[in-house]
Amino acid sequence: MNEIKILGAYGTKAKGAGTSSFYLNERNVIDAGNLLNTLEEESAKIENIWLTHSHLDHICDIAYILDNYFSIRNKTLNIIGLPATIKAVKKHFLNDLIWPDFSRIPMHASNEMTVAYIELVYGAKYKIGDDEYITPFKTDHTVPSCGYVYKKNSNSVLITADTYSLDTAIKILESQIDIKSMILECSFPSSMDKLAKESKHLTPKLLFEKLDELKRDDIELYINHVKPLFLEKITQEIELLSGKWVPKILKDNEIIYF
Ligand SMILES: [Zn+2]
Ligand SMILES: [Zn+2]
Repeated sequence: MNEIKILGAYGTKAKGAGTSSFYLNERNVIDAGNLLNTLEEESAKIENIWLTHSHLDHICDIAYILDNYFSIRNKTLNIIGLPATIKAVKKHFLNDLIWPDFSRIPMHASNEMTVAYIELVYGAKYKIGDDEYITPFKTDHTVPSCGYVYKKNSNSVLITADTYSLDTAIKILESQIDIKSMILECSFPSSMDKLAKESKHLTPKLLFEKLDELKRDDIELYINHVKPLFLEKITQEIELLSGKWVPKILKDNEIIYF
């Protein structure tokens, strides 16, 4: 069985709640919302952070894993994302003002730089292990963004990350029957649909309306990116509106098998 560990499941930080990060294997994670508390020293082994977009809740722990474990890192950390995401991280985050520009700082015991940037392309297939690949696809958020399909051996899981539309995700789910699980976002209660639309996030009502279009029902549905303050309300709404789906709302440190 393949697995993914959910390092951070929520849409914002709160006491006991970490933000988006998915542990694919020892060297690869998607997003960096909650790497430090969950991985501690293991985070020094991470070589590739595959970003979905540039928002703080998805990038914040890049700063802290570099800082805490600088002396034991012996491989360059690749920050991988869409060109606009890379540009935003370089210009507004690791810019020597907010945090050091680690792409110009050699590692403790090597001449190699601590950070390198890699731009990715929608639809390309990137190898991240023995028979393990990830492929970014376009999503619909307030900044350029992508979700990922993670394929290991013969099964795959689709992760949307922050998005308002599910159109591309639905196309992919319908054309790739090896996708056995999907992790979709749901951030706000249905009464906040105006804010959801403006900030390009989903509510339970929007999520299940959009899922009605999907011509498959043999996929496990997991939900992440709930804002902790609305957890109870959103859980109730999801139970009420889920129809044929049996959704599971993710928590930090949970493992998904696919
Ligand atoms: Zn987010
Ligand atoms: Zn976002």
